[in-house]
Amino acid sequence: MALNRSVLEQYLKLNQRNKVLVTYIWIDGTRQFLRSKTKTLNFEPKSPSECPVWNFKGSSMRQSLGDNSDIYLYPVALFKDPIHKGKNKLLLCETYVSNHIPTLSNKRHSCAAVMKEALDSHPWFGIEQEYVLLDADGQILGWPKGGFPAPEGPYHCGVGTGKVFGRDIVEFHYRACLHAGILIAGTNAEVMLGQWEFQIGPCEGVEMGDQLWVARYLIQRVAEDFGIMVSFDPKPKTGNWSGCGAHCNFSTNAMREDGGIVHIRSAIEQMSKRHAEHIKVYDPLCGKDNERRLTGYHETASIHDFTFGVAHRGASIRIPRHVADEGKGYLEDRRPASNSDPYSVTERIVKTVVLGQE
Ligand code: ADP
Ligand code: MN
Ligand code: MN
Ligand code: MN
Repeated sequence: MALNRSVLEQYLKLNQRNKVLVTYIWIDGTRQFLRSKTKTLNFEPKSPSECPVWNFKGSSMRQSLGDNSDIYLYPVALFKDPIHKGKNKLLLCETYVSNHIPTLSNKRHSCAAVMKEALDSHPWFGIEQEYVLLDADGQILGWPKGGFPAPEGPYHCGVGTGKVFGRDIVEFHYRACLHAGILIAGTNAEVMLGQWEFQIGPCEGVEMGDQLWVARYLIQRVAEDFGIMVSFDPKPKTGNWSGCGAHCNFSTNAMREDGGIVHIRSAIEQMSKRHAEHIKVYDPLCGKDNERRLTGYHETASIHDFTFGVAHRGASIRIPRHVADEGKGYLEDRRPASNSDPYSVTERIVKTVVLGQE
């Protein structure tokens, strides 16, 4: 938490003397959380390849064993830094052990290879990131201490005190994404009190994962300034409360063209045969996390069944109403959990639908 925001602003205004701060960001060994550290450069990098490879002590981040603990950070995606502004940058990195071997938590490496193979189909994605805001004690924002709010109903896209809590964070995050150059498509208050969503996309190929991870970095970084925590737990409250997903909207060139609905339907047919393989990579615990969320209630399909339908929010895959009406567009995979790795999700979809792989 910023101890005193107005004092901090004075320091942030000081002259940087043409130095550029580059914040290196990477996914840690949990495959859910991010780490970062900052480096001074003497020039303004225009692309990730201009930024030096760096390293970190993997042993303290569940990414390597103590006696062989150096992990390399390979720069892959560069953004403007909305926190430090000016020429400063955010730099997303892949993690490698020596000899160019990706770490176990580096899912981008294989995703990029698959996306390269599928280049001609121009796979587009849009991910809806749901999350919950918690105070420093771990209590969901707006929930009464030790109790429950009124049942769900008034909170989705809600307006006004009592309906929504934490909107400042949502607004700051929206602007921060725009400043950074992230394709944030929109945002809304969600079904459970204290729950929100932002959408990233459409993005092509491996860029979906890059943009979503940096958007996740920014929501946590902004919330940090308010002393608030962000939870990506797929089912923050058991019982009659909605969980958090990361619906993945997907299309190819063929699906977007007139009559593309035929290709959407055959994609769903392909996906129906690979339900188990998809569920396995749709949360960091190979389905265990999603088990709590995909119950068949709260606009989810049971984890055990594959279902689809037009405008059907209780299905695994939904064809949006307007897509059915226009006969072209995209499909929505509603199964990925809020804490899923978008590299794994998008890779799996392209393997199944475009490359026809097991
Ligand atoms: P929902 O009705 O499920 O809440 P949202 O409006 O929250 O849907 O999110 C829709 C997402 O779909 C957005 O992220 C948007 O960028 C994405 N999207 C729109 N068109 C396409 C497309 N042709 N291919 C892939 N994603 C798309
Ligand atoms: Mn949505
Ligand atoms: Mn939603
Ligand atoms: Mn959705």
